[in-house]
Amino acid sequence: MQIYRGERTVARIASCPAADPYGTVDNMRIGIPRALSYYRYYPFLKTVIEGMDGEVVLSPSTRKSLLEKGAYQCVDDICVPVKVYFGHVLDLMEKADCLLISRLVSVEKSNCDTYTCPKMIGLPDMVRHSMEEAPKIIEHIVDLQNGSWKSSIKGIAKALGASPSVTRKAYREAMEVQSSYEKLLLAGQTPESAIEHVLNPHGAAAQDGEHSAPNSKKEHAVHKDGQIKIALIGHEYLIHDAYVSHSLPDKLRSQGVDLIYSSQVTPEAINQELGKHPEISWSFEKELLGAAYHFQGREDIDGVMLLMCFACGPDSIVGEMISREFYRSEGPAFTTMVIDEHTGEAGVATRVEAFVDLIRRSSVRL
Ligand code: SF4
Repeated sequence: MQIYRGERTVARIASCPAADPYGTVDNMRIGIPRALSYYRYYPFLKTVIEGMDGEVVLSPSTRKSLLEKGAYQCVDDICVPVKVYFGHVLDLMEKADCLLISRLVSVEKSNCDTYTCPKMIGLPDMVRHSMEEAPKIIEHIVDLQNGSWKSSIKGIAKALGASPSVTRKAYREAMEVQSSYEKLLLAGQTPESAIEHVLNPHGAAAQDGEHSAPNSKKEHAVHKDGQIKIALIGHEYLIHDAYVSHSLPDKLRSQGVDLIYSSQVTPEAINQELGKHPEISWSFEKELLGAAYHFQGREDIDGVMLLMCFACGPDSIVGEMISREFYRSEGPAFTTMVIDEHTGEAGVATRVEAFVDLIRRSSVRL
């Protein structure tokens, strides 16, 4: 499947209002929705755009009105993260000249075909064709099976009229920032906190209660009295969107839980686990699967919670694979939580309390 076509991308970008016929642009305000790929690639994209003299406009944190507007604009049977994304797109339409929307076709080089989910592959088209008044869109096409990270920013460079040397410099800087960001995620920082650290290093608070070396002996320390350790597995745009997840991480911590995220498992540890199982093609779900297997074998983990959302095709399959693996083993206690836009805060709190209570009362891990 060959989806990346440079010419088509260039043609779309040239339709941005701030772009002149020769591709040069002054002070273009580029909107980035705070949803989906924001949690993975925002530091990279912001650094690239600013390195090319563009201005980034970021949508605010998700709130009720924003989700409601997004859900109204979407087809009914789509997952809540896409509805959230549409809400952020609507919020940015008046604030930015163009929107930068990622088309994540393939995010890893691999010997077998790997993809993200169909919604992420078709996201620019969904936005373009679902809105009564479609925004101007710059596509950030990531197709590492057929291209590279460097080629993914060609469209942004074209829209901003950046010269090859400026593009190279912006790319180099963006890769460095992104690398620092990913290290902080591995060390246990939340995306928002890590973004603040890498993009505003002087303003970011020095302290971050979640710092710890990933997969190190430190993680295997003896628990403090009464404290239990739970691994939270799920897409970062679900876990770390406080409105959508009803602040699930905070709720767990408030119950005395020492929390570790699936994003803290190193790629090496994930690949080691996945090597023992049949290949699957969804890159992001592979990470969840590998992280689940990793946590299953760790002595210091008391429980594993898998957060999924309703109407997610890939998660419905991978979630089942993870569940079966846990239910037939003697590993940590395991539960799944499926959420959508109708999920109530009280329901999340009850599930958290019940799971934590079950672990505390259980003698399985004694
Ligand atoms: S992976 Fe699932 S939750 Fe994420 S965008 Fe695709 S369908 Fe939605």
